[in-house]
Amino acid sequence: MSNLIIRGLALLISTAAVAFAIVKTMDNSHAADQSFNKTDVVDKTDIVTNGNPLLAKWEGPYGGVPPFDRVQVSYFKPALEAAMTEQLAEVEKIANNPAPPTFENTIVAMEEAGATFDRVGTIYGVWGATMNGPEFQLVQREMAPKLAQFGDQITQNEALFKRIEAVYNSPAKAKLNAEQQRLVWLDYTNFVRSGARLGPEAKARLSQINQELAGLFTKFSQNVLIEENDQFLLLKSEDELAGLPQSLRDAAASAAATKKQTGWVIMNTRSAIDPFLTYSDRRELREKAWRMFINRGDNGDEHDNNATITQILQLRAERAKLLGYKTHAHWRLENAMAKTPERAMELMEAVWKPAVARVHEEVRDMQALADKEGAKLTIEPWDYRYYMEKVRKDKYDLDQNEVKPYLQLEKLREGIFWVAGELFNFQFTPVTNVPVAHPDIRVWEVTDKTSKRHIGLWYFDPYARAGKRSGAWMNAYRSQERVNGEVTTIVSNNANFIKGKPGEPLLISWDDATTMFHEFGHALHGLNSNVTYPSLSGTAVARDYVEFPSQLMEHWLSTPEVLQRFALHYQTGKPIPQTLVDRIKKSATFNQGFATVEYLSAALVDMKMHLAGDRKIDPDAFERETLAELGMPKEIVMRHRTPQFLHVFGSDGYSAGYYSYLWSDVLTADAFGAFVEGKGPYDKSVAERLRKNIFSVGNTKDPAEAYRAFRGRDPKVDALMKKRGFSPS
Ligand SMILES: [Zn+2]
Repeated sequence: MSNLIIRGLALLISTAAVAFAIVKTMDNSHAADQSFNKTDVVDKTDIVTNGNPLLAKWEGPYGGVPPFDRVQVSYFKPALEAAMTEQLAEVEKIANNPAPPTFENTIVAMEEAGATFDRVGTIYGVWGATMNGPEFQLVQREMAPKLAQFGDQITQNEALFKRIEAVYNSPAKAKLNAEQQRLVWLDYTNFVRSGARLGPEAKARLSQINQELAGLFTKFSQNVLIEENDQFLLLKSEDELAGLPQSLRDAAASAAATKKQTGWVIMNTRSAIDPFLTYSDRRELREKAWRMFINRGDNGDEHDNNATITQILQLRAERAKLLGYKTHAHWRLENAMAKTPERAMELMEAVWKPAVARVHEEVRDMQALADKEGAKLTIEPWDYRYYMEKVRKDKYDLDQNEVKPYLQLEKLREGIFWVAGELFNFQFTPVTNVPVAHPDIRVWEVTDKTSKRHIGLWYFDPYARAGKRSGAWMNAYRSQERVNGEVTTIVSNNANFIKGKPGEPLLISWDDATTMFHEFGHALHGLNSNVTYPSLSGTAVARDYVEFPSQLMEHWLSTPEVLQRFALHYQTGKPIPQTLVDRIKKSATFNQGFATVEYLSAALVDMKMHLAGDRKIDPDAFERETLAELGMPKEIVMRHRTPQFLHVFGSDGYSAGYYSYLWSDVLTADAFGAFVEGKGPYDKSVAERLRKNIFSVGNTKDPAEAYRAFRGRDPKVDALMKKRGFSPS
């Protein structure tokens, strides 16, 4: 059993990705739920008696693989219920063991418990993120509060907690090895932090809060999804397409076909809106698209999220107090690398001022260009991306469309494999003997290049489709561990590329290529894991540390070794010319003012909302006033405005935690310096230090200590400032 209780449901997402909770919930009432229950009674008896494939041990090669070919939505509810019942029985047995509590009979026994639930929960999570639909959403609404309650039933088990506490306080603990001691500490603090020490009344209230929150998270997420799906910008004539490159016109035409519209459709999602704002010459249409996008969940109608946010914030504040913390932010950060909200705020504030100063410079450049063109306008938020692109061409002679023909999806995939071979001695071999959820998904076996030892499996699900959430992410299907013999890793990378025409290579942008390297970094973090206990495995590390390995891997895309071998023109096969690479390099810090302020304003509002305590918050007013106090440049809007901030209100996951990307990037920028100071990005001895201290240790070590072991010192913020082209304030 994992400390997160529902390990399989945790995804690692990018700043851009839409992070809606995989654990969704209930809308209490509803005829729909009732009709679901009715059909389900029949299904349940049938499936349980005939063997629900989701409950079975994973069979097949590589120590067993997920039975994605045997999934039916009707299996989920009975499988989850049976798996929860099984785990609760296992937990009861551990809690009521007549023998005195020991590391083996309590802590290790808990690691072994819940294996069935882990398997079912993993597939449930994959379905929620990649194969979702109305039938599945009914199951999610019904199961979310039950899953929340299930978690509380374990952490509130008094007899169990007494045993964990006894092991934690026992003199025998000193004889355990470092990994074992860390596991004891983690179990103990997680139970305490989940309310194990509270009295019966407080426990009951806590459980009620958690279930209520699960319902509100679902409501919030579904409202955003509905507005992204239902709203769109319809373009009716050719001249409304002015400025759009052919690839965007094709995508808009196919979106129109899907939506049964005549003309071209710009969907209300980031992947459609951002390019439209970048290229459309029609200013009034840019403004229209921009307003539609930034008002998701904020339209004063039945899908408005403001009241839900107020409720979520109040429940979180009450829960924090109940658990003995000043605020939700203090509770969330206690076990993070930052430890306190104050330290996170300190970093954000240090970066904020130079970033804002850079934005003013960027706006000056854009305004000058607009004036030179005789555009007769003042730069507004819907002009930013458009003029940014013009300045990029003007100042750096760099056109993104000039780079794209060299960035073929499949060649870059070979590129990341090659990097993994150089740094970690991994080899990737395609396999076809493994079931997949959709024919577009492909699988590779990962082995050690020299010893041929089997390391794990990597699933690649690159294309957008109905029922798959937007953005890019990594997911662990099975974490490496060796409690009862070696278990190897299964991980996946997921993206939302629009499938090209058959036989034609799919070309992607530089940003998308960077994201590929990022998500692959998470995969390598999982695949390199070399620990004993599943709760400490791979990417199961602190939220503000987990983006470090992934952001670090982004640096290898722009190495000459990768570009010369894998950035090949899709028609001529020739590598990207050095002059173009030089121009990409020269423009590396271009637009960092915009990117940093857009992100950081969202991170600051997130943190400040969760530091505000239990006063009633009107999200619109809070957002407006906070940004005014910060001196937010008027030309930029938060990357995620609060009514659509799924990282923060779609689950607890990144709440008071959106700062994590910046925190991790301090480590990233500083860590890459170790390669630069050595023999370069492919320095074998630095790579070995990286594997030994960072990529293989999971959560068996305190992250600050692990970093020190790799770098020989604490991280410095200078490298981050330099990477983003800021001078310190
Ligand atoms: Zn990430």
